Amino acid sequence: MTTWTHPTSLPEALAALAEPGAAAAAGCTRLAFDLADPRRRPTRLVSLRGLPDLAGITAGTAAEWSERTAGTAAEWSECTTGRPVGGTAGTTAEWSGGGTAGGGLVLGAMATHGQVAAHPAVRATLPVLAEAFARVGNVRVRGVATVGGVLAGAGYAWDPPTVLLALGARVRIARPGGAVRVVPLDEFYPAPGTTVLRPGELITAVEVDAPPTGTVGRYQPFRTRSVEDTTCLGVAVTMRVVDGVCAGARIAIGSGTPVPVGFGDIDAELVGRAPDAARIRAVADAYADAVVCVDDLKASAAYRAEMVRVWVRRTLAAALAEAAATPAATPAATPAGTAG
Ligand SMILES: Cc1cc2nc3c(=O)[nH]c(=O)nc-3n(C[C@H](O)[C@H](O)[C@H](O)COP(=O)(O)OP(=O)(O)OC[C@H]3O[C@@H](n4cnc5c(N)ncnc54)[C@H](O)[C@@H]3O)c2cc1C
Repeated sequence: MTTWTHPTSLPEALAALAEPGAAAAAGCTRLAFDLADPRRRPTRLVSLRGLPDLAGITAGTAAEWSERTAGTAAEWSECTTGRPVGGTAGTTAEWSGGGTAGGGLVLGAMATHGQVAAHPAVRATLPVLAEAFARVGNVRVRGVATVGGVLAGAGYAWDPPTVLLALGARVRIARPGGAVRVVPLDEFYPAPGTTVLRPGELITAVEVDAPPTGTVGRYQPFRTRSVEDTTCLGVAVTMRVVDGVCAGARIAIGSGTPVPVGFGDIDAELVGRAPDAARIRAVADAYADAVVCVDDLKASAAYRAEMVRVWVRRTLAAALAEAAATPAATPAATPAGTAG
């Protein structure tokens, strides 16, 4: 039998989650399946709905956010794993060299997919993220499914993690006792269907930096059956072009792979060059060779690998065309911290 707890504060929730067999309950769109399976059914569900710290979407800096949630700014930086964020191709400095928009977005773990899709700051700063959340399932799912749930649930076919990976997102995690650690999304899924969350830990938010001015984002979910079906293969690309030269690019593949993946060394082949059709094709081929795909009822692994070749090429070409037409500030022209 499963019992419910309804905490009204983060410390209360963390204490309840410390009990063996307890699980966080967010939108319950995935948990509903676990409850029907005696082998996966939690003994206690800890509702996150009464926790104001986990709600909402904030445009701002990590420092501003840390004032709102458990933990201090010092804990924030100490617990960050330390990998550069944004643009695996090149260094963080290169990526942000065009002047970042400053701040970024912090998506509360209990923000619903519908709220992310409709939020003015998300649509203005990271429209590709709004679009990805808007395409999940149907309006009933988007009305309750949450940012924390779509990451912690670790469903390999799910869309938002792929886009968040291409955006260099970080996951903010509250630990039992109230300390906080921040994990880059590319370290969040150590193996298929699992996360780095330890027993009793809770995702409180996801942070996404605002990309440099002129960065464009594209997400292409390839669905083999109806539009309501989950994605067979998802390709996300962020790219910035300055004077015809690629100044930063990041590709992420998901839904058809055991966990969302990207390869910084392949992405780097685009940077510092004027990408043409041949280079785009070479990068798509390199991804098709490097990626390990899932074999399931939707498609074989071999078919998916071919689709990686096709959709990386098409998504890159579309992003390149859009980036080339998007004014990108040069480092000299844009003061650091200017909104883009
Ligand atoms: C009909 C249907 C169609 C769908 N179509 C799509 C689709 O097209 N694309 C797509 O990407 N996805 C799709 N999904 C999957 C959907 O995205 C997930 O079910 C949903 O995002 C899970 O979020 P939730 O808030 O409901 O999580 P819950 O079901 O509440 O929780 C899921 C898991 O995460 C844990 N958890 C939740 N929140 C936290 C937290 N803050 N910290 C730590 N652990 C937490 C829970 O304990 C549980 O183990 C579909 C689902 C349904 C039911």
